[in-house]
Amino acid sequence: MKARAYSAALSLPPVAGFAQLWEVIREELEEVLELRPSPAARLEELALAHDQGYLHHVFGEGLSRAESLRLGRHFSPELLQRALYSAGGTLAALEDALQGGLGLNLGGGTHHAYPAHAEGYSLFNDVAVAIAKARAEGFGGRVLVVDLDVHQGNGTAVFFQSDPSVFTLSLHAQHNYPQLKERSDLDVALPDATGDAEYLAALEPALERAFAFRPDLVFFNSGVDVLAGDRLGRLALSLDGLIERNRRVYQKVRESGAALVVVGGGGYHPDLRLLAEARIQTYRLAVAELWSVTRGG
Ligand SMILES: [Zn+2]
Repeated sequence: MKARAYSAALSLPPVAGFAQLWEVIREELEEVLELRPSPAARLEELALAHDQGYLHHVFGEGLSRAESLRLGRHFSPELLQRALYSAGGTLAALEDALQGGLGLNLGGGTHHAYPAHAEGYSLFNDVAVAIAKARAEGFGGRVLVVDLDVHQGNGTAVFFQSDPSVFTLSLHAQHNYPQLKERSDLDVALPDATGDAEYLAALEPALERAFAFRPDLVFFNSGVDVLAGDRLGRLALSLDGLIERNRRVYQKVRESGAALVVVGGGGYHPDLRLLAEARIQTYRLAVAELWSVTRGG
């Protein structure tokens, strides 16, 4: 049996300009995993984590102009649909992880969404919703969020600030969005133009501390906007550095015996082939490192 991965690109037509990129990703990933369309997250699922008034607003009149500015995207029914599939992919991946040890969503990782407001391209916080769903289904273990997207996971930090059962780690570019950082359980802020060696040197002790929490379930925001040349990045990882970053996360997960959910996070590199390659390598390596006979494969 192959590992499964969910993609909103199979649920909705790909965003203009990304159709070709998607075909490359699809072809390469289907060699090692089964791609499935993401289901749409349901309102009741979102309500497990998000503020009721906020959801009522989003599903009712939608975001105002000022709120759309904060989101960084023009609000539309289509945008809402995409956000529902993005979060739904993470919820489906959660079920795979709880059953077979590994769950993969090519989308998700919208870590800037707060309980009661949208910002930074993030309408719903899929990881926060998934953790709330796991709790609602009776999962009582410790949860670790390893957020290696180049931007701080400010929304996620706020969701779990007073929850001792969830440890949030964010390793990010110090001088990048969001300007006002929130407090994660462990924040590592990196200077502009940090390259592979410095990045990996900072990652190692951070992972040590995070996994000392002894998680039973890990969410990995695998944002590839750490690559040198990313339009919204500021760090300077090579593709090899990114692969090594991911390998270290996967190895820690394997040592810990925790279940893993991988979500996509950001990636805004102008070189679409490189962007595709970074995504492909991230998910292929997760399967290679974590999908084995002993883990349900
Ligand atoms: Zn990002």
